[in-house]
Amino acid sequence: MTQKVGFIGLGIMGSRMAANLLAAGYELTVHNRSKDKATELIAGGAMWADRPAEAAQDQAILITMLAHPEAVTSMMNGDNGFLNGLSEGALWVDCSTVNPSFVKGAAHIAAELGIRYIDAPVAGSKPQAAQGELVFFAGASDEDLREVSPLFEVMGSRVVHTGLPGTGSALKMVINSMLAMSMVAFSEAVALGESLGISRETLFNTLIGGPVTAPFLARKREMMESAEYDMQFPLRWMHKDLHLASISAFESGAAMPMANAAKELYQLALRSGYGDQDFAAIFDFVGHHSDE
Ligand code: NAP
Repeated sequence: MTQKVGFIGLGIMGSRMAANLLAAGYELTVHNRSKDKATELIAGGAMWADRPAEAAQDQAILITMLAHPEAVTSMMNGDNGFLNGLSEGALWVDCSTVNPSFVKGAAHIAAELGIRYIDAPVAGSKPQAAQGELVFFAGASDEDLREVSPLFEVMGSRVVHTGLPGTGSALKMVINSMLAMSMVAFSEAVALGESLGISRETLFNTLIGGPVTAPFLARKREMMESAEYDMQFPLRWMHKDLHLASISAFESGAAMPMANAAKELYQLALRSGYGDQDFAAIFDFVGHHSDE
């Protein structure tokens, strides 16, 4: 028997994750705030639900892949919200990047309704989502994780079981603060090098692949060289993730002076119109067009 799955949130990541589930034979019911993003999935056989609650109805598993905590809240609550559609015993798997304290609140609300909950944010971007090569950071009980694992195997290549709900998002906060800061560190270093008369080519050839540079920078090289930052991971969501990491640090008592400085830099870039470019565009913002 084909398994039914509900899927809410069909942006860059969600649309591709859902397409992989559909291709693997799952019977998918989808919902998104803007219906146009569901067109291809519907043409491929997915059913459309007009309301989040409808996408959740009679589903053993519901996956959400939404922008931020506010988006999850708006899809979750009220008569039309998916919590109103899910039955007791159903499993809600939230792949959105949200903060651990939000996860704990959401898990608590779900538990009061008898709904099981996993936070499973992902590493990987648009290409990995398309190719089914995401890494899932799963905050889940062993039993719940076993249940959703076949779906993770379709959408991803690896699952890291981080502990109970909240821990998947905690690890995601750690990773994305590193990602954001590494991008800024590289951008500043290249700006310094160029200002001192070293060519960009020499800087890229020396830094990228070398021991002081984060390996992911190799995948951003083409973007930086062409100054074309086609959106894979939107800069506005990187700013959001730094904000969520900052909230998390405040709540736990950790100090993140560098991450907060980076956060404000991404905010300035947002204000300058970089929000809908890939976050690597911070390289451009940090000063590589100053003397052009
Ligand atoms: P996206 O393309 O901007 O999609 C965001 C999704 O959230 C869309 O379905 C959007 O609906 C919905 N949404 C936004 N605001 C909403 C609101 N107020 N109410 C209801 N729905 C709302 O972003 P994405 O890249 O797919 O990212 C989704 C999540 O994955 C984010 O948490 C992001 O941080 C995380 N993530 C992204 C990447 C990446 O490389 N892109 C990698 C890892 C994790 P509409 O279509 O109607 O706007």
